Amino acid sequence: MSLKKVASKHTPRLKVKFIKKGICYADNGVIVVRKPYSRANLFEYLHECAHAVLGHLKGSRTRYREEYEADRYVREVFRVEKLKVPKNTDKRQRAYIGECIYNAILHGAKTIELEPYKYAFGIDLS
Ligand SMILES: [Zn+2]
Repeated sequence: MSLKKVASKHTPRLKVKFIKKGICYADNGVIVVRKPYSRANLFEYLHECAHAVLGHLKGSRTRYREEYEADRYVREVFRVEKLKVPKNTDKRQRAYIGECIYNAILHGAKTIELEPYKYAFGIDLS
């Protein structure tokens, strides 16, 4: 299946605004993303769709938890569609969630959820 077909198959009913560069995000039922021409862009695209699908637009959970859930959603789509997550994307996403965890700690979080922590830092604490 082409990347374009994978993208449209997994696109929720949202307004999508395509940009050529800059930061991708989801806000108020609109996702702002690059066109999913590569696996890296598809990951990014589905990540923003995931925020909308998972109801993250209301911001009710911690940032790192939402980012982790969005990534998990995309990884499941990639697994089902038999697509490999590009190495740089994998590294960048984990690092980003690590940053979000770090920020949560800096802002006084008393506890950090284990699953996102393991995902971000690749550490098995069990
Ligand atoms: Zn995100």
